[in-house]
Amino acid sequence: MRENIIEIFSSIQGEGKYVGCRQVFVRLEGCNLDCTYCDTENEVGRHPHCMVEERVGSHKLVPYENPLSAEQAAEIIMRLAGKVPHHSLSITGGEPLLHVSFIRALAARVSLPIFLETNGTLDKALAECIDCISHVSMDLKLPDVLSAPVWDAHARFLAVARTKDVYVKVVVAAETHDEDVEHAARLVAKTAPETLLVLQPVTPYGGCSAPSPARLLELQRIALRHLPDVRIIPQTHRMMDLL
Ligand code: SF4
Repeated sequence: MRENIIEIFSSIQGEGKYVGCRQVFVRLEGCNLDCTYCDTENEVGRHPHCMVEERVGSHKLVPYENPLSAEQAAEIIMRLAGKVPHHSLSITGGEPLLHVSFIRALAARVSLPIFLETNGTLDKALAECIDCISHVSMDLKLPDVLSAPVWDAHARFLAVARTKDVYVKVVVAAETHDEDVEHAARLVAKTAPETLLVLQPVTPYGGCSAPSPARLLELQRIALRHLPDVRIIPQTHRMMDLL
């Protein structure tokens, strides 16, 4: 089994509930959504090479020819994880659930908990690998960043993900509407009310601008009407210029 992988490296988790935890990251190619603020080159086949951090913490990436086998990827992951204790293996993208068989193959070969970073829309794919996964970082995409809303897909997805450690992350921009944040909070409250909701101010890209501090607090107030745990957490790795 082989897949095109964009990069493999060790860094800290920069977002959400586990911000600051040390992880190995595997970024898989391809996505089923089209967010306006996307900064990942997702076109399948665009990465003839996987960029691999050779020495843990060095930030120096060297190219490996794609596609990589699960065995090759696992060997790189465990080499990085062997030098420093890591919290987990973050499988991200793109949308990693487009590669369920590869996720299963990796999970069987690495001795780290699997942390899935997903756009939260592919519930059937999640159900096929949920037994391998310890943590789910689920994005909930608001309609104004997509060509079509995905509310129903998110509700189905969260119903599967709630059987594991899951938190939900909503990226908010200056343009974000109150009613969309309210809809998101209601959706989470209806499906899995114990779930942490993270409001993440957008890192400006693709014409989006960050919300003002006052807007962030107002959006948190709206979400807190429906959920007990709503936190504002920005992308911290960008602040520190980490991978
Ligand atoms: S889900 Fe993530 S990878 Fe896919 S288009 Fe949106 S931001 Fe980009």
